[in-house]
This record gives sequence, C-alpha cells and structure tokens, in this order.
Amino acid sequence: MRIILFGPPGAGKGTQALILSEKYGIPHISTGDMFRQAVKDHTAMGLEAREYMDKGELVPDVVTISIVHDRLILEDCTTKGFVLDGFPRTIEQAKALDRMLDEINEPLDAVIQIDVDAEILIRRLSGRWTCTNCGALFNTHYNRSKQDGVCDQCGGPLFQRDDDKEETIRNRVNVYEQRTKAVIDFYSSHQLLIPIDGDQKIEKVTETIAEALR
Ligand code: AMP
Repeated sequence: MRIILFGPPGAGKGTQALILSEKYGIPHISTGDMFRQAVKDHTAMGLEAREYMDKGELVPDVVTISIVHDRLILEDCTTKGFVLDGFPRTIEQAKALDRMLDEINEPLDAVIQIDVDAEILIRRLSGRWTCTNCGALFNTHYNRSKQDGVCDQCGGPLFQRDDDKEETIRNRVNVYEQRTKAVIDFYSSHQLLIPIDGDQKIEKVTETIAEALR
C-alpha cells in the first residue's frame, strides 16, 4: 500500500502514520524525522535544513526531493509500499514524487487529507511532546503522558521540538496555507484525495482512515 498523509502541521499526521505503518506493515517515511536526524548527526544536509526548520520555513525542494528519492528506492518501500508523512509539501515535490513512482512502477493508492482548524493546530502544537526513545507523541492538552516528561510506552524521556514554539508554529501554519495547500488541488485532479476531519479523537480518525482505505 502506498499512502500520503497530507495536512497542516499538528493535524495528527505523525500519530496516524505510526498507527498505519504498524497496521499495514509498511515503512513510515517522515521527511521531518529525516531532517531532525540529520540535524542530530550534524551532517552538512542537517546544518542546511536546520536554518529553515528553526524559522518554520520549508527546506529547499532540491534537498527534500533527493532524500525522499534515496529512501523510496530502497527495497522495503519497493516491495511493501509506504506511508509518507510531511511530503510532498509543494507542487514541485508532488510532481517529483510522480516521477519517482513511475520509476519504480508503483502508483499511489490514496492521499489522506487531514483537516484541522488553524487555532486548534496552534494549541495542539504548543502542547506537543515526543519520546526521545520510541517517537511516541503526547500532548499536554489532549493526550497527556501519565507522568510528566516520561513516555507511557517505553519510559523514555519526552522532549519538546525546537520548532514547536508559538512564533515558529504560526509561521509553519502560514507556510502551509501559502505553499502546501496548493498540493490539494494537484491530487484532487488525480482523483486520489480522501478528506478526513482531524478534529476528532485519535482512534476515531484512525477508524475513518481505515474505512476509507477499505
Ligand atoms: P514536520 O515534522 O513534518 O512538521 O517537519 C518539520 C520541518 O522540517 C518543517 O517545518 C520543514 O522545515 C522541514 N520539512 C519537513 N518536510 C518537508 C518537506 N516536504 N519540504 C520542505 N521542508 C520540510
């Protein structure tokens, strides 16, 4: 199965992608996670990406397309498929993805578009905490960990992302409105778009996605 999870920052793409990846046994590919790993590893690409991430801007297409290409041609993706989280975010990226899928001769099955109101996004993102160890996501407003700062699933320490600060969050939401939303038209013209209301409980969103994919 080859799925894109599309939506504004904070819509719940990461949470749903982890669940879908497990449910369907497909790799979860998050460009945001790949960039954060590169920043952590102090690679040249990480240094470049960080300049944009810290401001809530998009990393240039040429860099982003290249890391996704290098990942999608690996055997786990060519044999099992994937769930893409956070890519594509521009029309150029969407067109490049079409070319990559042509290259491996595997079309997309669906583009799940998770919709959430901007003010709710800002509240969600400002309360978001991630496990350093297993990547599980928690939220001080909606899905608090049992013990502050400690992961319910593996006991690892939780951290707040550098770009989950209010000013950066507002810019990320603006960038989505100005640049990324156009990708919706691209996929609706391909008849692949499945809109989902993301302002519901996590389990309900998962259920709606699973139903749509059936
Ligand atoms: P995310 O975790 O998906 O919210 O991504 C965090 C940050 O990584 C974004 O705010 C961008 O700076 C960068 N990023 C992630 N995916 C992309 C992409 N497809 N194109 C450009 N920049 C991206």
